[in-house]
Amino acid sequence: MIRKAITIPHKLFATVAKPVPMMNNLLKSQAYINGCWVDAISGDTFEVKNPATGNVIGHVPNMNAKDAQLAIDAAKRTYESDEWRNLTAKQRSSMLKNWYNLINEHCQEIADIMTAESGKPITESKGEVAYGNSFVEWFAEEARRIYGEIVPSSLPNRETIIMKQPLGVAALITPWNFPLAMITRKAGAAIAAGCTVVIKPAEDTPLTALAIIELAEKAGIPKGVINVVTTNKAAPVGDLFCKSPDVQGISFTGSTEVGKMLFRNCADGIKRISLELGGNAPFIVFNSADVEKAVDGAMISKFRNCGQTCVSSNRFFVQEGVYDRFVELIKQRVEDLKIGAGDGDGVQIGPLVNKMQFNKVSGFVDDARKHNSKIITGGKALPEHGELFYAPTIVTDLSPAAKIYTEEVFGPVVSIIKFKDEQEAIQKANSSRRGLAGYFYSENLQQVFRVAKRLEVGMVGVNEGLISAAEAPFGGVKESGIGREGSHHGIDEYVEIKYICMGNLKY
Ligand code: NAP
Repeated sequence: MIRKAITIPHKLFATVAKPVPMMNNLLKSQAYINGCWVDAISGDTFEVKNPATGNVIGHVPNMNAKDAQLAIDAAKRTYESDEWRNLTAKQRSSMLKNWYNLINEHCQEIADIMTAESGKPITESKGEVAYGNSFVEWFAEEARRIYGEIVPSSLPNRETIIMKQPLGVAALITPWNFPLAMITRKAGAAIAAGCTVVIKPAEDTPLTALAIIELAEKAGIPKGVINVVTTNKAAPVGDLFCKSPDVQGISFTGSTEVGKMLFRNCADGIKRISLELGGNAPFIVFNSADVEKAVDGAMISKFRNCGQTCVSSNRFFVQEGVYDRFVELIKQRVEDLKIGAGDGDGVQIGPLVNKMQFNKVSGFVDDARKHNSKIITGGKALPEHGELFYAPTIVTDLSPAAKIYTEEVFGPVVSIIKFKDEQEAIQKANSSRRGLAGYFYSENLQQVFRVAKRLEVGMVGVNEGLISAAEAPFGGVKESGIGREGSHHGIDEYVEIKYICMGNLKY
């Protein structure tokens, strides 16, 4: 039932007030299975909206488990084909390099689509294209370094050979907040390792995913290697990924709640799963800190993508000696942020991605208010900009009973808590069940090492608010996930280690 694509881009703009530029050839309206642009078997579609305006910017197929099964079948066939299996690491590396070059060339078009569907400011979208593409480049390089080992045997006339082999078909489930980077960080590693993939992008941001897949096709990545299933009914598709014996591994980025459910569902088949889940990052400013630098770091760590990043600082702990200065400086900076639709000049804060996110963020602030916290700036909706805009907000004097004290806000809200000494800061920072990123500012070398070691997180920013990079392992501890993405460790999620015992050798 796979039909070849007839792309009719102008149809997408029927109800658009501020369209993605008309010449954007990367704007797709079909999913991608076995090298073909396809509709859902049912013919159903769903709308993709611009969160800044509420306007519809496109429609994509609303697929179900039957479509997902076709995608799995295609990925499996390709994985088992001689054409794919016999490619050398260098050939896979070249394909990824081609893909990297094409994404670079089309940065502006991809960023336009990303801003239109996610609401993030255009400068951030361009930044994400560069950041996300750095994983394609990195894994193009790593493809050639998936080394095995020969270990000296304890027995005579034997060799102990260890080799890394691709896992097989990998299902990749990604969120809306980094609609490109969360795909390339997984797919780059999977393809480098020799896997084939089925991607399920987020309902809010399927267009960025489809745009880069169009470029993967142009880059010469063979049919069936990458398949994309778009849907607004994630559960049956996710369920199939967990249960299908033809899917050897799942890589999921998203909420801890959904991650736990997938983890449970993979248990029956003892299926490999890597999970990049929610964070609740502490940001600690010690008395010894350079407070101006700390405010710079706080702004970048908190307000990127309107606070909707998993490594966003969520709880600010500021030591008594610098508390007043920090609060005064950050308040000025927050009040200076330029708010508007992501394609507006100099805009730094766009809308929240959807109504659910908006209700969550405003609910957290209302709850903090009820618990007698002080809202020193913001704390309100901004209907003059649009339905999903919320003012950058600072909350102080937080009661530990307020939800915001313990839960991930995922929005433009800075909550500041005063502390007395290092012990108290570490205890409070580690009091969360999440452990993705953590940040602290200190100019005291002894303190730097002590605190870096004691924070219960997978990633630490010391005097730095922006820490993710292709060469660094990204991932969390506790309920923030298992496994690592990026860096040379990122390949490990997509390979099996095989031991080959060569016996009775005649030397
Ligand atoms: P989410 O609701 O868990 O969604 C993430 C992805 O999972 C989307 O593609 C979603 O599809 C899909 N999904 C939802 N229910 C599913 C199910 N039952 N089975 C299979 N897939 C399912 O998370 P979100 O609200 O989009 O993202 C925000 C969360 O992600 C935050 O907690 C954030 O911290 C975390 N995050 C973590 C990282 C990291 O690297 N650790 C990075 C980014 C975000 P639909 O879109 O169709 O619902």
